[in-house]
Amino acid sequence: MPSFVITEKCDGCKGQDRTACMYICPNDLMVLDMDGSAGYGEMKAYNRDPQMCWECMCCVKLCPQQAMDVRGYADFIPLGPSATPLRGTEDIMWTIKFRDGSIKRFKFPTRTTPEGSADPLGGFPTHDDLNSQALATEPASLGLDAVPTPN
Ligand code: SF4
Ligand code: SF4
Repeated sequence: MPSFVITEKCDGCKGQDRTACMYICPNDLMVLDMDGSAGYGEMKAYNRDPQMCWECMCCVKLCPQQAMDVRGYADFIPLGPSATPLRGTEDIMWTIKFRDGSIKRFKFPTRTTPEGSADPLGGFPTHDDLNSQALATEPASLGLDAVPTPN
């Protein structure tokens, strides 16, 4: 489900040189139409190539105006449903509208640590043996005493 901008909600991140969606997109897809010449409206962002969108939802999570939405696949959207994200500091609330008009909401956490912090090792011990076949937090993060290796 590639992302797109709800232009009525987008404020161009208040005229900053690099908007939040431009900053976060790993595929460099988001562009700010500064003078409106691209047809999206003055100071409105847009996804310049939805076919190249990784659908990672980073822009959806980061947009401070809730202006990023995702385009549902053609096999279900023409039948009336929608999937709309609402970003919070700790989670995303998805509002799912089904074909029969019924609505359900699902809340998914987006953080495991308080905002502004990170725990890259997840609390597991690490090692610095570059010759080891174990990744940094293995074998503890696998729940094992040792990483299985082929005989
Ligand atoms: S992050 Fe949101 S508000 Fe900012 S430019 Fe992108 S779509 Fe617009
Ligand atoms: S969903 Fe990911 S890849 Fe697609 S435009 Fe947003 S940040 Fe970029």
